[in-house]
Amino acid sequence: MAEEITLTIENQQAGKMKGGYPLITKEAIVNIQDLKEEGSLIRLVDERGSFIGRGYYGRQNKGYGWVLTRKEKEFIDFNFFEKKISSALNQRAIFFDKDDTTAFRVFNGEGDGIGGLTIDYYDGYYVISWYSEGIYQFKSIILHALEKLVEYTGIYEKKRFNTEGKYIEDDDFIKGERGEFPLVVKENGVSFAVYLNEGPMTGIFLDQKEVRKKIRDKYASGKTVLNTFSYTGAFSVYAALGGAEKTTSVDLANRSLPKTIEQFSVNGIDHEAHDIKVMDVFNYFKYAVKKQLKFGMVILDPPSFARSKKNRFSAAKDYKNLVKDAVAITETNGVIVASTNYSGFGMEKFKGFIEKAFKEMGRKFKLEEEFSLPSDFKTTADFKEGNYLKVVFIRVTK
Ligand code: SAH
Repeated sequence: MAEEITLTIENQQAGKMKGGYPLITKEAIVNIQDLKEEGSLIRLVDERGSFIGRGYYGRQNKGYGWVLTRKEKEFIDFNFFEKKISSALNQRAIFFDKDDTTAFRVFNGEGDGIGGLTIDYYDGYYVISWYSEGIYQFKSIILHALEKLVEYTGIYEKKRFNTEGKYIEDDDFIKGERGEFPLVVKENGVSFAVYLNEGPMTGIFLDQKEVRKKIRDKYASGKTVLNTFSYTGAFSVYAALGGAEKTTSVDLANRSLPKTIEQFSVNGIDHEAHDIKVMDVFNYFKYAVKKQLKFGMVILDPPSFARSKKNRFSAAKDYKNLVKDAVAITETNGVIVASTNYSGFGMEKFKGFIEKAFKEMGRKFKLEEEFSLPSDFKTTADFKEGNYLKVVFIRVTK
């Protein structure tokens, strides 16, 4: 760890930070030239020199680092990390006791007091994600704290920084026993094949578990389901288990075909009774309109930004049109599940896009359900953007 640097925060931001805001934005820093090495500990003061808090320097797309404490007598050392991780683990005690869900988040960044760090649990294995070079400098101390607090089979890591969008790490294993992959974990009694050593993603996005459960338990029965941006087909598997007549999964990544077949198979579902299409979702919409296909349920879970050969998608600009595409091929009385993980707008704005889409299509809807992050993805009211997930279930009524 490098020495502590004193950073001066400009007045307006200083007020916000004193009130609890944990992110150190670039614009907030008066003496940015003093920041040298990522991982430096920072003492934050206002323009009059009075103490605001302590944090670290680590660059993410969001900002330049995170506030870790506002107590002048608290220092960022082994005890600090141990206390934060221990408290997070205690809050997940009930999750460790469940047999039907063996994968969940145990540490959620600023929601658990340390921005830029997440830890997930996959049936005996821990996966630590480092979101900046800065937080990565604390690797040995954080690892040591975690090892003191938990029993584990193995530990893996994801470095979510460096490499300009590319993931170059070929081995994410840190210690313990190496896993044999796929590792089959459970979520709400459903099996998932996960791979902890295949790049940044593991095969399942743990933050959607409540949405998946709702689809299975309340909405899927008897429906024809279109799952767009389907990745490994997690929503399709739940829909099939919930009694969907048939699911169609669409994703343009080649890997999505074998991965989706695998998720069906580990659940004993005959994948041949379902459609899995490797293609651009926007081309699929056109194809469906031409063929006059209609679905009882359409699931929309696009990335915040995506670019394919012909299409460019940004949630902020294009979500409304995506909903329009979905409305065009949803049966009356059918349901659209609209999801986004884009942190740049909140639930109200998201619902605004939906309203506008229906208006432009001359159709009517009813909002049936609303979801944000589940409780293991703990968030803080001091950082609203951290509660990035927004999911609404929309019934097309007319
Ligand atoms: N819904 C998934 C997660 C989606 S991740 C789940 O529940 O697990 C986003 C996916 O969108 C990626 O798999 C990516 O390959 C896919 N994707 C991005 N742009 C696309 C496009 N234009 N058409 C089809 N798939 C696309």
